Amino acid sequence: MMKHMWSDLYDLHSHSTNSDGEHSVETVAQLMAASGVMHWSLTDHDTIAGWDAAAEAAQREGIGFIPGVEITCEPGLPVVPSEMELWDRDRAPTSWHLLAYFPIGSVTDDQRASFKAWLEPLGESRGPRMERMVALANEHGLAIDLDAVMARADGSVGRPHLAAELIAQGYVETKQEAFDLWLGDGRPLAIVRNKPSIQDAVKAVHESGGIASLAHPIYYGVPVQTIVQFCKEAGVDAIECFHRSHPDPYRHELLMAVQHHGLTSTCGSDFHGLSSLQEPGNMPLPLADLPSALKA
Ligand SMILES: [Zn+2]
Ligand SMILES: [Zn+2]
Repeated sequence: MMKHMWSDLYDLHSHSTNSDGEHSVETVAQLMAASGVMHWSLTDHDTIAGWDAAAEAAQREGIGFIPGVEITCEPGLPVVPSEMELWDRDRAPTSWHLLAYFPIGSVTDDQRASFKAWLEPLGESRGPRMERMVALANEHGLAIDLDAVMARADGSVGRPHLAAELIAQGYVETKQEAFDLWLGDGRPLAIVRNKPSIQDAVKAVHESGGIASLAHPIYYGVPVQTIVQFCKEAGVDAIECFHRSHPDPYRHELLMAVQHHGLTSTCGSDFHGLSSLQEPGNMPLPLADLPSALKA
């Protein structure tokens, strides 16, 4: 019976103003609860700055909270062009994203602290990096103020915040244009930063008692069997089969491969904000495939 039970009570992938999300942690918690989510993870990019506020907000909303983070890693495998074409992806990824979870029940405060110590230098490298990006912008004749960019971020500052400032100052009209002209990889203001390999990130997550799940694999342009095999060998616990951007045939193929290799699966809306017409929650997944430490 359990084997076939699906649940839409989980949303294990979302962002707040602590990274590139549009809403505060409190608002994200409210929107999750309003969408019927009962088990929510906040997974801001490379920062855990929102965890305390999220735990409090979840309690107020009467929903469960799982401390999470989305770690920016080096790509694990090269892109296969035919696979990009197959799923209509036109932009080759420059990083892979690894979701990490540190459930309250199975991970101690000490373990969370040790993970924070590993993560922090990665997130901090974003501050000086933004300084250099703004200096580059100024050199290119764009009158951008560092403080104005920093003020747009609650936690870790990144390219989306600079994009917003470029729009505010009238240099570009859309975020897409900001990335195409200035911020995308290989463009004048892009500065490469240190990223761990998937293997190193998995190791750090496991050493702190956490669970690792590969986020939105469809973005990486790698055939399903190959990417699942890679995850298995890299020690990744789960794969985010149920990501908002995955079409049904892809979810199905991925789930079959994940089950075949004895891995588990997670689900996530990757909610960034209402103004980009996204919605939280409503991400059904088969309960039997969820890592047991994430089950309520
Ligand atoms: Zn991501
Ligand atoms: Zn995300």
